[in-house]
Amino acid sequence: MPRPPKRRTVDALPQHDYFKPPGAPLSGLEEVRLSVDELEALRLKDKEGLNHEACAGRMQVSRPTFHRILASAHRKVAEALTEGKAIRIEGGRFRLRRSYLCSHCGQIVSGDGTGEADVLTCSSCGSEELVRPASGRRRRRRRRGGGSGGRG
Ligand SMILES: [Zn+2]
Repeated sequence: MPRPPKRRTVDALPQHDYFKPPGAPLSGLEEVRLSVDELEALRLKDKEGLNHEACAGRMQVSRPTFHRILASAHRKVAEALTEGKAIRIEGGRFRLRRSYLCSHCGQIVSGDGTGEADVLTCSSCGSEELVRPASGRRRRRRRRGGGSGGRG
């Protein structure tokens, strides 16, 4: 029986979501679509150099699942590089890792993805008084004043 795929936890949204060979006209250019969680797998494994277990832990998935995500990402990137295709990064099943604000020193503390602020302490001053930053990154969109996408 198919079960709904679990969401993978990612640290941040990509800063750039489109890559294409220089000079290639957009029309007629083939694209591969890399999901945000696939990019995160590449980042953790290939850029940060974490092992599979650590990567899986960061993304809150099993190791076989992580392996699958990574293999798919490798295949797509290789396809784009060797065949001169553009890469569009979008979509996927993921959620952003929550971050908290230390009300003592103002440090931003990354959550572990489970949303349990009360088990975290500030990495800077050790305080346990962490609050959610008052940024409106919620599921529900406010009807007014939506567009300010400033993060960080
Ligand atoms: Zn602090």
